[in-house]
Amino acid sequence: KRLVIAIDGPAGAGKSTISKEIAKKLDIEYIDTGAMYRALTLKVLEKGVNIDDIDKILDILESSSIYFKNNHIYLDGINVDKEIRENRISKYVSDIAKIKEVRSEMVKLQRQLSKESNVIVDGRDIGTVVLPHANFKFFITASPEVRADRRYKELLLKGEKVTYEQVLKEIKTRDKIDSTREVAPLKKAKDAYEIDTTNMTIQEVVNKIINIIEG
Ligand code: C5P
Repeated sequence: KRLVIAIDGPAGAGKSTISKEIAKKLDIEYIDTGAMYRALTLKVLEKGVNIDDIDKILDILESSSIYFKNNHIYLDGINVDKEIRENRISKYVSDIAKIKEVRSEMVKLQRQLSKESNVIVDGRDIGTVVLPHANFKFFITASPEVRADRRYKELLLKGEKVTYEQVLKEIKTRDKIDSTREVAPLKKAKDAYEIDTTNMTIQEVVNKIINIIEG
């Protein structure tokens, strides 16, 4: 039987770092669904399209190719790992991800990408919408302050000019949009294990999840 693991939670909880690590340890595939929304956002911003222009955004999505190769994300054949993590993308991605038609296309794509091998998939609606039949579901949280602190340090390392207060505010805004939107709002699936990582290291979280999976 195929192993399908769903990881959901708010921004900066450590989902992608944790998922990558688990994928490596269990030798399974990793799909970062946030990266897909980010890639679309990158293209929308680069084309100068307004984030309210749903029709144009859908045109862009339809005419784009977004895929993963060896855990790297490609937009129209170009590796965009770095660009999609820039703060300008984080600022707008939730506005684009709340568009109903964008979500239904993305969900289709995500199901396709995760239907063949053993996978770990991370996002906001994986356990609730994209893969409701996943074998294991985890909901990873941490206090907004700790999440902002983790993001802030990451952005500093990349040389972005941001303040902690700014990052905290942006994280709270994103949480609000993600958890109050009409379609697939961020919430814990009923059958998900919740892990509060506020006082945990990445390694502790990874070990906890692997222990649960390996029973
Ligand atoms: O996980 P990450 O922070 O990279 O996701 C960026 C944004 O993409 C989230 O804040 C959310 O608005 C959106 N997203 C989503 N559904 C997913 C994954 C990400 O709406 N499954």
